[in-house]
Amino acid sequence: MSKITKRVLLTFSGSIAGKPVVTELIRNYDLEINIFRASITPNAEGHMAIDVTGEEKMVAEGLKFIETFDVNINKMKNSLVWDENKCVSCGNCLSHCPTDALYIHDETTREVRFNGEKCIACMSCVRNCPFGACSSLF
Ligand code: SF4
Ligand code: SF4
Repeated sequence: MSKITKRVLLTFSGSIAGKPVVTELIRNYDLEINIFRASITPNAEGHMAIDVTGEEKMVAEGLKFIETFDVNINKMKNSLVWDENKCVSCGNCLSHCPTDALYIHDETTREVRFNGEKCIACMSCVRNCPFGACSSLF
């Protein structure tokens, strides 16, 4: 059976910080979890940007399982915030983006756009955008 990958941003309360939620996802739902950013502090709100890979049914059930904890799941989002109002399409970030998540949308106008599905949250663009168009959610 073919596998799918869903990229999700988890926001959770401090009360679950010590619980083995990710371990249970891997063990009980046969999922592969790729954590590409995380900010976890005991007794404070935490964030985790992950790719969840597995059979479609298991991915859906696994995400449902996570929601039984005090976790908010934001699908198709990760921790990079691109502000199109601040972006002036200078192109400075393009050579620093390893996945082409920031790309030239229109060859004539050289307009830059952001594709969140390709973003791996490496934050290289945050350091290389002179106009503050890229920032980290956490
Ligand atoms: S965080 Fe990394 S992958 Fe995502 S848009 Fe910025 S440079 Fe590209
Ligand atoms: S460096 Fe910043 S302003 Fe320039 S194209 Fe990239 S996101 Fe837009």
